[in-house]
Amino acid sequence: MFDQFNRRINYLRISVTDRCNLRCTYCMPEEGIIQMPHSQILSFEEIVAITKVAVKNGFEKVRITGGEPLVRKGIVELVGMLTAIEGITDFGMTTNGTLLKQFAQPLYDAGLKRINVSLDTLNPERYKTITRVGKLSDVLEGLAEAKRVGFNPIKLNCVVEKDSNEPDARAVKVFAQANGFIARFIPKMNLDEGIFGVVEGGEGGNCSTCNRLRLTANGILKPCLFSDRGYNVRELGIEKAIEMAINNKPACGMANRTGEFYNIGG
Ligand code: SAM
Ligand code: SF4
Repeated sequence: MFDQFNRRINYLRISVTDRCNLRCTYCMPEEGIIQMPHSQILSFEEIVAITKVAVKNGFEKVRITGGEPLVRKGIVELVGMLTAIEGITDFGMTTNGTLLKQFAQPLYDAGLKRINVSLDTLNPERYKTITRVGKLSDVLEGLAEAKRVGFNPIKLNCVVEKDSNEPDARAVKVFAQANGFIARFIPKMNLDEGIFGVVEGGEGGNCSTCNRLRLTANGILKPCLFSDRGYNVRELGIEKAIEMAINNKPACGMANRTGEFYNIGG
């Protein structure tokens, strides 16, 4: 389907949970996080039904995100249900990688072949500071396992202050090259203030070519990360919510005062 600005909307990002086992400083507040009640979280059947309608309407690309997708109970089963849908040509997941050592093989077996792992630094102390609670070695072990299992491509999402010339980012670039991973550099954004930029080595952040809709874990279809607009799939019905989200996709992002990265999925 095309939106009002002649952009072909064919990419659905699905946040499967707002929960996370990390607390990255740029993504989540340290405390006072208001979690979605479990009763509001979409069931696997609902996620599959929404994805099927999206595919019927021309969506080809699907990405699972969160919160941290690997903390959603039964995630491997959900991946299997989604990869069984005919018509998805590009299916991926964005994860912080901390649980990949355990999940890489079962996810691969369930049909997931492409993965993006968030990694901002190769310095263990800096990693701890950025994520507040994370252990760098967990991610590195997870990445090694993903590589061993055969994931291709493995992309690294590296959040930077400005660009990839920063020391942490340069180290991530070298690490990526040495391992056959692809590094992408995401400028640190601020939803509230409407500060966003183009992803170096990726597609995000460029409004004129944006092809995405985002589905939150509680069933709100969002036409733009930097907008408060959202369409409730349960209230409107799937077809109508998709149609409204596409028709109300703004030409360009402004600001988002009602959401956070961890409950929209980045
Ligand atoms: N937990 C998973 C992870 O970290 O990869 C998936 C969800 S996370 C919200 C998705 C992506 O958004 C991550 O690559 C993360 O680095 C990015 N992100 C979060 N907050 C951000 C911010 N303020 N600016 C830019 N990127 C951000
Ligand atoms: Fe969790 Fe990902 Fe947000 Fe970090 S960026 S707090 S890992 S959702």
